[in-house]
Amino acid sequence: MLTSKILLYDVIIVGAGINGCTSAYTLTQAGLNVALVDQDGIASGGSGAAGAFISPKISKAGELKEIMSEAHTEALEFYTTRFPQFTLTKPLLHIANSPQEADKLEHFKLETSLKHSELDDALKSLLNEEASNESTIYFDEGAVVDAQGVCRAMVDGIDFYLLKAQQLLYEDGLWQVGELRTKHLVLSIGAYPKLLPIDYVGLRGIWGHRIDIETSTHIPCILHHHVSISPTTKAGVVAIGATHDVHYSPFSGELYDVEQGRTLLLEKASKTLKLNNINILNDYMGLRSGSNDYLPMLGNLVNADATLEKFPHLRHGQAVDSSEYIYYPNLTMMNGSGGYGFVLAPYLAKRLKESIVDEIKIDPILSPSRFFPRWAKRQS
Ligand SMILES: Cc1cc2nc3c(=O)[nH]c(=O)nc-3n(C[C@H](O)[C@H](O)[C@H](O)COP(=O)(O)OP(=O)(O)OC[C@H]3O[C@@H](n4cnc5c(N)ncnc54)[C@H](O)[C@@H]3O)c2cc1C
Repeated sequence: MLTSKILLYDVIIVGAGINGCTSAYTLTQAGLNVALVDQDGIASGGSGAAGAFISPKISKAGELKEIMSEAHTEALEFYTTRFPQFTLTKPLLHIANSPQEADKLEHFKLETSLKHSELDDALKSLLNEEASNESTIYFDEGAVVDAQGVCRAMVDGIDFYLLKAQQLLYEDGLWQVGELRTKHLVLSIGAYPKLLPIDYVGLRGIWGHRIDIETSTHIPCILHHHVSISPTTKAGVVAIGATHDVHYSPFSGELYDVEQGRTLLLEKASKTLKLNNINILNDYMGLRSGSNDYLPMLGNLVNADATLEKFPHLRHGQAVDSSEYIYYPNLTMMNGSGGYGFVLAPYLAKRLKESIVDEIKIDPILSPSRFFPRWAKRQS
């Protein structure tokens, strides 16, 4: 813990993953006095495990596509200009892994403003038969960041407390976390146990495993197919990831089978290209926290008991405008980024800053309260 005599902060952020670190960085840049709290250290959760590819989401038109597209553009700009030493930029080849994805990819190609070109012969010759017969899109610019390095660099100089937040108390207009006090509390705790009675928030943890390897095969660009494969770094390392396991939870007490995860990753990578002389260097594992509707969450949290007491007929499906709900004061949740936490973090942190500093309302589409009415109806 970096000791600090000041226990009163403008903002306390609980959770030092990519969401917490980017928020701490952005709010500090805006002149606020920020404390960052984590039970295990910086980038110790899902963020420390991430391959941290800054890639566009291939999806058809809709709200999700618009948010992801804006977030992707903002993230590329953010990491390449603010943290270039932790950001590797290379072209990105996305290969469809199913007929449904091929359909989405062909639509995406027609509509995207992102620069893309034809595959050159050298790259084609690297791919195996399955991959070379699929629909592809080859973007001129992609990026991958050093997940742990960038998180640490962002919070350099910011007060950090190694502390498990257990009870969140609100007294005299201030939130209290251990010995710390603040007006604004931000919860960015990923897929970890919720700290408030907010069962309506639709989140689930999706376990992921990635590996770093050495291989004599040189990878010239970012590859996304059945798994993602990074370009060969200056140090000669290639990252492969990640698995998506909705059944395993580290909170179950069950042991995770690392060997099986490695085998799965290498099998999936072999569907894209042949990797020669592989030596596994490191394993990284963690939980991504995905929202039930795939949109990220940024906004105030509804106090469910107080709101149900005020509007008991919500239990019978009464329509109540969300501005009438009772919210926990000055408390913002940032979560639900699924497999796109590094893409979304600069976008979410910018809007968090606009809400706290400039008092600009966060787009209600991101609000965690969107899950509340349906949950309330099930409480009858
Ligand atoms: C294997 C893998 C690969 C991925 N690859 C990519 C990728 O290529 N690109 C991409 O954009 N995203 C990727 N992701 C997703 C991305 O990592 C997540 O979306 C992101 O990590 C979410 O960040 P977060 O800050 O919300 O949560 P986390 O990183 O999980 O951070 C939450 C933090 O909260 C702390 N915490 C929880 N409860 C408490 C408490 N009570 N008190 C104090 N501290 C607490 C935890 O210790 C943890 O450090 C990947 C994820 C995984 C697992």
